[in-house]
Amino acid sequence: MSTSKNRVVILGAGYAGIFLATNIARYVTEKVGEVVLIDRNPYHQLLQEIHLVAADFRTANEVQIPILKLIDRTDIKFIQSAVKQIMPDKNMVALESTEINYDLLIVCLGASTKYFNIKGATENTLPLRSVPDASLICDKMRALMKSNKKHDIVIVGGGATGVSLGGALSDFVKESKKSDILTITIIEALPTILSGWDERLVKKVNEVLLEKEIRIRTNSAVTRVENDGDASCSIYLSDSGSKIHSSLAIWTAGVKGYDIQISPEVEKTKDGRIILNEFCQIGSYPNIFSIGDIAAVKDENGKLYPPLAQIAVREAKYLSKLIPKHVIITDRADLSSLPLNEKFEYNIKVQLISLGNDDYVGLFNNHVISGNLAKLVEEFSMSAYIKTLESGGRDIKNTSLYGDNIFSQLVSGIAFARFTFIKWLEKA
Ligand SMILES: Cc1cc2nc3c(=O)[nH]c(=O)nc-3n(C[C@H](O)[C@H](O)[C@H](O)COP(=O)(O)OP(=O)(O)OC[C@H]3O[C@@H](n4cnc5c(N)ncnc54)[C@H](O)[C@@H]3O)c2cc1C
Repeated sequence: MSTSKNRVVILGAGYAGIFLATNIARYVTEKVGEVVLIDRNPYHQLLQEIHLVAADFRTANEVQIPILKLIDRTDIKFIQSAVKQIMPDKNMVALESTEINYDLLIVCLGASTKYFNIKGATENTLPLRSVPDASLICDKMRALMKSNKKHDIVIVGGGATGVSLGGALSDFVKESKKSDILTITIIEALPTILSGWDERLVKKVNEVLLEKEIRIRTNSAVTRVENDGDASCSIYLSDSGSKIHSSLAIWTAGVKGYDIQISPEVEKTKDGRIILNEFCQIGSYPNIFSIGDIAAVKDENGKLYPPLAQIAVREAKYLSKLIPKHVIITDRADLSSLPLNEKFEYNIKVQLISLGNDDYVGLFNNHVISGNLAKLVEEFSMSAYIKTLESGGRDIKNTSLYGDNIFSQLVSGIAFARFTFIKWLEKA
């Protein structure tokens, strides 16, 4: 596939890619080029809700939005295909069936599960990184519920994904009236779950999980996982060599950058994230940018931004301003001499964690929130995010997945009050 126009190619239609594509499309096509978006799936996955699919509170269709629906009012060209290789020296990307050239490339392929080379972990546990992963966990849960025997469900990893999954599965078990036979344990190698999160929020999350009768074992690293031959496994732990027998083990202990082949190789962190400069750009290839979970960008203190949807969206918002300004307006630009001077910077102001079907705990403007307020903030943010996507980027000012201006929006109150009123009407 070749073209005489300037072509911007975006790999991945997750939070980073879809948001970037819908927001730059009109600038690019109005000026000098075209935008091509590539994903192996025909849908955008709302990954931060997939634990609710695993627990049967959402259907798969509710958390995947067809990409064509999101881009139908734009001139974006969508190709459904798996990306196999990036060849920066040739400005070319190899897809499953063809090759495509680019003038500007943005890599947004997300993350994958990291198993730390722990023996038996890949083979004997399930990951939770996609809607099909979540549907499989849900099927296994239903089968355990039907068996009417006692079963231990073990979640390895007490980060945000593990904790959210634990909360949701506990609600599923309770609603199915199976609490007497199904127990849920979260295993965490570090001294606390949600390591690195605000201490007050962690305390509140611990309380909620305790109420949900979830067992939490901290300071407990998994050393190996063995198949017990009856669709169950034994999880061996570092503390006093103990083990847990589990009928369903889910691995949420680690995340690494999606392993895409780039030849010649570019520098990556030990977690496989592409090392970028403060403009989200590969230093040695100025016409390649990367954002989202696969991207390793440092904040002002030299710490990597965490792999979070809200960071992916902020990075996309940043690039959606930078690209039209510096690249698109310059036909066949000499990309190596772009006058980039506005670095990516973002301070996380809102932290929210889902702990079940209807439970959220968060830190909002430095206050711990829970209950209905936390739930409303989550629903409001998500609905604003989807509205922005569906507007084809025209509604960018209102974007919010815990965005820059969510606090001022909430304080100004109008959008939030309207949203709350509609929710109340729906319930009434
Ligand atoms: C269960 C769960 C709960 C979470 N909860 C939260 C939360 O509460 N708050 C929060 O901020 N973050 C949360 N996250 C993290 C958040 O989902 C990620 O940070 C976010 O999805 C990153 O966006 P991204 O665009 O980089 O990657 P993704 O959203 O993963 O998108 C990557 C895209 O690339 C595509 N792709 C991958 N490989 C290929 C290939 N070879 N060829 C073609 N296409 C490919 C995928 O299909 C996908 O569409 C959660 C994650 C999980 C799994």
